[in-house]
Amino acid sequence: MSKTQIQAARDGTVTPEMERVAERENRDPEYVREQVAAGQAVIPANRHHDALDPMIIGREFATKVNANIGNSETTSDLETELEKLHTAVHYGADTVMDLGTGSDLDEIREAHIDHSPVPIGTVPLYEAVKQAGSPEDITTDLLLEIIEKQAEQGVDYMTIHAGILAEHLPLTDGRKTGIVSRGGSIMAKWMEEHGEQNPLYQVFPEICEIFAEHDVTFSLGDSLRPGSLADACDEAQYAELDTLGELTRVGWDHGVQVMVEGPGHVPMHKVAENVERQQDVCDGAPFYVLGPLVTDIAPGYDHITSAIGAAMAAQAGAAMLCYVTPKEHLGLPEEDDVRDGLAAYRIAAHAADVGNERPGARDWDDALSEARYNFDWREQFDLALDPDRARSFHDQTLPGDNYKEARFCSMCGAEFCSMRIDQDAREDGEMEAIEGEDGTDLEASPAAAVNRPPVGTHRSGDLPPMADHEGDEPLEEPSDD
Ligand code: SF4
Repeated sequence: MSKTQIQAARDGTVTPEMERVAERENRDPEYVREQVAAGQAVIPANRHHDALDPMIIGREFATKVNANIGNSETTSDLETELEKLHTAVHYGADTVMDLGTGSDLDEIREAHIDHSPVPIGTVPLYEAVKQAGSPEDITTDLLLEIIEKQAEQGVDYMTIHAGILAEHLPLTDGRKTGIVSRGGSIMAKWMEEHGEQNPLYQVFPEICEIFAEHDVTFSLGDSLRPGSLADACDEAQYAELDTLGELTRVGWDHGVQVMVEGPGHVPMHKVAENVERQQDVCDGAPFYVLGPLVTDIAPGYDHITSAIGAAMAAQAGAAMLCYVTPKEHLGLPEEDDVRDGLAAYRIAAHAADVGNERPGARDWDDALSEARYNFDWREQFDLALDPDRARSFHDQTLPGDNYKEARFCSMCGAEFCSMRIDQDAREDGEMEAIEGEDGTDLEASPAAAVNRPPVGTHRSGDLPPMADHEGDEPLEEPSDD
């Protein structure tokens, strides 16, 4: 059996995946190997995922962003699902989770894996419920069968809800919002009905063996994550975290890569505490957080409430951020929601990388600021996180080509443009001129590829074309060298 990334790393081998990751992150391949060997970073790379462009998740690397896609009973067709994958990759998702619960799950999952340059994650429990018909009818054999099938299909990482135990359930009784994780609620219902321990916990070593065979990475699900600020950091959440720490070490003992999922809804003053506790309890295994939302009051804007928490979590050491869209709590996201969610999370990830002083992370900010001060509108649009949006917002009021040379925009107007006034004052008076010619060279920046514009430039030639995107340029193919 071939070695997993962590087994190879422990044996001192730098794999081609580590080489590629080192190139993308601008790091020494040996450093990548050390981080993987120590379980401090993961390279989710199922050996059957041929279209993958390997990436790494770890607190010492650029912060990554995951987007969830997937069908439901009400929306389901292959073309739409591939379009969602394309949208997510286009707007900069570093990994994509296929959380489909509708029909044709196998066909859609296989198409996602065939077409995706980014790691694909799944939650096998959802398919188990679908096949069994109800949570209580799930069997251990069915769970193992589905996990093995998905591993053979090429899924790079799977959320496994093995950390929620029967003894944890009473700890949720006083909560304001109970158990809000889908997987958690399913396992809780199963345990209540059967009066037995969580089957995923009981067969965890067998799951490890399947994962080791195909090199699937664990994403240990936080079934008892808080669904409201009132429930954050309670006994139930932290009791499960202790079990996730135990399972992390079991996974490592089996030569399997592990990351750990985290909350949810957490007030700002407790975000760092959550990250530090997970890092301590799980011996530094990468923390993959959903948001967290820092207030419960803003349905319709939860990409913002959660991106605030996500930025704080990433600054405190979270390695990957699971995006939240404006539709959170309200409905299945549409394409514009995916775009808005990813923009919010790419901002959170980048802001944390700048705040953590990752080498070169701020170069992108500097380059854009220079273009802005120089009134180089086209360059400013090109460097923007979402160039199409920046261009279209500008052109709503000043659409003419001549305004691409203008020393003002419609925000302050020509007379009150502070940057124009500042430049004139420097020309006419004592203040020194600000020279723009020695601008930031992003090509020479040591920043990781995900921290340089444009985002969303993964290998995309295999993806279906985007439909009806005005002004949308085809994505660039990275060179093979
Ligand atoms: S008009 Fe105001 S917002 Fe527009 S470029 Fe000048 S200073 Fe900036």
